[in-house]
Amino acid sequence: MTPPRSTRSRSPDRRDFLRAAFAAGVLAVGSPGSAAAAPAVPGRRFLCGNVPATGNPYYPGLTETLPTTIPGIPRAIINLQKAWKPGTTLTTYLLNGTADPCLPFFYDRIARAAAIWERYANVKFEFKIGPPAPDDCPCDLLTVNCLPFATRDGAMGVDTFNSLVGTDARVDDLKSRIPTMNLIFDPRVLTGLSGPELTSYFDGAILHEMGHALGFDHEHQRRDRPFKWKKPAVYDFFWDRLGWGRQMVDDQLDKFVEGASVTVFDPKSVMMYPIPAGIAEYEDPAGGPFETAGNHTVSPMDMVTAVWAYPPCQEEFAPLTTPPVLGGVPVAGRLAGKNVAVFDFIPPRTATYEFEFAGPMPVLAGVSDVSQGTRLPRARLEDVYLCGAAEGGGPGRRVVVSADLCAGNPYRLEVWHAVPRQTPVVDAFTVAFRETTRRRPASGC
Ligand SMILES: [Zn+2]
Repeated sequence: MTPPRSTRSRSPDRRDFLRAAFAAGVLAVGSPGSAAAAPAVPGRRFLCGNVPATGNPYYPGLTETLPTTIPGIPRAIINLQKAWKPGTTLTTYLLNGTADPCLPFFYDRIARAAAIWERYANVKFEFKIGPPAPDDCPCDLLTVNCLPFATRDGAMGVDTFNSLVGTDARVDDLKSRIPTMNLIFDPRVLTGLSGPELTSYFDGAILHEMGHALGFDHEHQRRDRPFKWKKPAVYDFFWDRLGWGRQMVDDQLDKFVEGASVTVFDPKSVMMYPIPAGIAEYEDPAGGPFETAGNHTVSPMDMVTAVWAYPPCQEEFAPLTTPPVLGGVPVAGRLAGKNVAVFDFIPPRTATYEFEFAGPMPVLAGVSDVSQGTRLPRARLEDVYLCGAAEGGGPGRRVVVSADLCAGNPYRLEVWHAVPRQTPVVDAFTVAFRETTRRRPASGC
C-alpha cells in the first residue's frame, strides 16, 4: 500500500533545514504552499482554515541566524554526539497555540508518539502550548510548528516534516526563534482518511521526526546500506512526486551519514524512508530490486537503540551465568520491572539462530555482537552492534529474536522487562536457543 504521507520532505541536517526554511529571514504567511492554496481534493473539504489572513501567528520575531560554519561532528544512525543526556526533560513548545481547530488532534498524535519513544528512551517530553517566553531557559527544549508558513523565498506547505537532529535544537534557537521541528499535516486527511490509515499518516511522520530530535539519523543513508539507488529513476520519481531536485534527492536519500552504525541494517526502522519499486536495487548483483514499505511504528531495533542511547538512570543488570544451550533445556531466570537479564554466549556454528522468550511480562530483547569487549554497564555504545531484536510478550505470547551469528564470536542476549520498575513485581521467564538454518552465507564472519 502506498503510504498516504508520501509527499513529506525532511531536512534533518541543521544547515539544510535552515537553508530550506529560513533563508529569507522573517516569516510570512498565506503562501502558495499553504493549505488554503493547495488544490482541492474532490469529495473532500477543508476541515480547518489554518492560514490566517495576515501576520505571523506561529513564532513571532523569527529571524535567520544561520551560522557560517557547521561543526564537523561525526554522525551515526543514532548520533551519540547529538544525543541528550539520559534523563533529560525536553520541554516541547507547541508553537501554534490552539487557534486552529485541527491542532488539538495534531497535538494528541504528537503526545502519543512522544509516549512511545519515552517507553524506550530515558527522556521525557513535557509539552507546553504556545511559544516559549524570551526568559524561558534556552536549554533542553524543542519547538514544534504544525501550520504552513512561508519565507520570502518559498513555502513550508502541508506535508512538510523535518526536525533538527538531537542537541542541534539547543543551539540558540530560543533566541533565534527557529522551530526545531515542523510537522505540517494536511488537514484534509482528517476528512479523507479514517482508522489505521489516518493514524499511520500522523504517527509515522511524528515518530520519525521525534527520532531525529533524539539524535537518530536516516537508516537509508547509512554507509553500509545493502542497496544502491538507480539513477536517473530515483531523480525522476522524486521530481514527479515531490518536485525534489537532484540536490534534495542526494541530500535526503543518497548522501551517506558518517559514523558507526549500532545495528545491522534495519529496513523496518521508522527512520527509513519508504522506497517504492523501481528506484533502488541490492548492491549484490544477484540481489535484485530493493524496496521497502512505509514504516509507521518504531522497530524493535529502534527500541533497543533508544534504550542503549538513553539508559535508565538505575538500570539494573541481572547477569545469568548459565548460557543458553543450543537445542537444550530452556534457561530459566527471574526479572524485575525495567531490569535487564543478560546472557553471554558463543554460538557453535555460523548460522541463523532464534532465541525464544516465554514469560508473563512484555519484554524487549536484543542480541548484540560484543566482540569489541563491551562491559556492563556499557561505557561505549559504539562497541556494541545489534544483530537482532524483538519486542512483545505477555501472558501466553512468545517473543522470538532472530539473528545471523558467526561461529566462535561472543554475543550477548539482553532481555528488558518492559513493566515500570515502580511496579513491585519479579517475573519468572525462560529462554530457549535454537539454530534455524545453516545455509546462511558466512559473509561478515
Ligand atoms: Zn528524516
